[in-house]
Amino acid sequence: MFSKAHQRLLAWYQTHGRHDLPWRNTDDPYKIWVSEIMLQQTQVKTVLERFYFPFLEAFPTLQDLADADLDEVLKKWEGLGYYTRARNLHKTALLSTPSLPQSVHELKALPGIGESTAHAVAAFAFHTPVPIMDANIKRILYRVFAIKKATDKVLWEYARKLFDEEHPYDFNQAMMDLGSILCQSRRTACKQCPFSSVCLGKEDPFAYPQKKVKRAIPVRQKKIIVHHHRGRYGMRQRSSRFLHGLWSFTEIGSDEEMDVSRRLGDISQQYSHFRLDAEVYLHEASIDEHEWFTLEEISALALSGADHKVVTLLKQR
Ligand code: SF4
Repeated sequence: MFSKAHQRLLAWYQTHGRHDLPWRNTDDPYKIWVSEIMLQQTQVKTVLERFYFPFLEAFPTLQDLADADLDEVLKKWEGLGYYTRARNLHKTALLSTPSLPQSVHELKALPGIGESTAHAVAAFAFHTPVPIMDANIKRILYRVFAIKKATDKVLWEYARKLFDEEHPYDFNQAMMDLGSILCQSRRTACKQCPFSSVCLGKEDPFAYPQKKVKRAIPVRQKKIIVHHHRGRYGMRQRSSRFLHGLWSFTEIGSDEEMDVSRRLGDISQQYSHFRLDAEVYLHEASIDEHEWFTLEEISALALSGADHKVVTLLKQR
C-alpha cells in the first residue's frame, strides 16, 4: 500500500535530508546513543551548537564515560537540564562497557533507555530493521492515518504499518527530517510532501492530533540563602530526586523566618513543570553541614540554572 510513498520519501530524503548531522556520519554506537539521549528533550540546533561535541571531547568513548566521576558528567551536562538523563547515561556506561548491547530488548533493560531510544539506537547504531518514534514521527503518524488521539502502543502499530522494511535505515532518517522540515506542528507543506497521496489528514493537518488543553504552570516562591564565611560560600550537593547531584545554595520556603540577612536580588527560573521565583539573601555565618567554596571553585561545580543566576548576583555585588 505504501511502496510508492516509500519511493517518493527516499527520493525526497536524498535531495532534502539533513545528511550532515554528525551522528548520521558515524557508526559508533556510543556517539549515536549520546546524541539520542541529548535529543530526548533538547532541540537539534542546541545539541549541535553547545553540547554534543564538548561532551564527546570530555568522554570520547563508553569506557571514558564509565571511568568518569558522576560530578564531571553532571558538569558537562550543565545547561541541558533533565539531569536524570546524565545520571542514567553514566549508570548505563558503567553497566554496559565494553560495548552497548544491540537488541531493542537488551537496550531497554538499561537505565534511561525507553522504547523510543532503544529503537533509535538499534536502528541507527546497529542497522536493526525496526521503526523509530519521536515527536516528529508521532505527528506524521497522527496525520497520515488521521488519528486524533492514540496511546503509544497504538502509535507503534501504525509505525510498523507505515514502515519501509526494504530501506529501514534511510526510512527512519527520512521520517525524522520530514517531520522537522515539511510536516511541522504549525506549518505543513503538503503539496511537496512525499506522503501527500496517502495522507488521510492532509485536508486539515492541524486537526491531528487533537490539541491538549494547556494547564497553567505553577509558581513556587522560595528564598535562597547564600551563607558566606571568610570569602567562601556554603553549598550542599542535592540529594532529592529533582536536580539530584547538583550543588546548591540553601533554599527555604518564602514565608520561613531567618536571621537578618542582606538581600542580593531576585531570580526566576523556568522548569518543565513549574517556575521558581526566589528572593536571594546573603547571610554571614558558618553552617556546619555545608561545604565551602570560593567563587572560582564554584565555577567548576555542576549547578542548576537558578544557582547560576545566584552566582551572577554574587559577582555583581
Ligand atoms: S501530506 Fe501534509 S499532513 Fe500529511 S504527512 Fe505530508 S505534510 Fe504532513
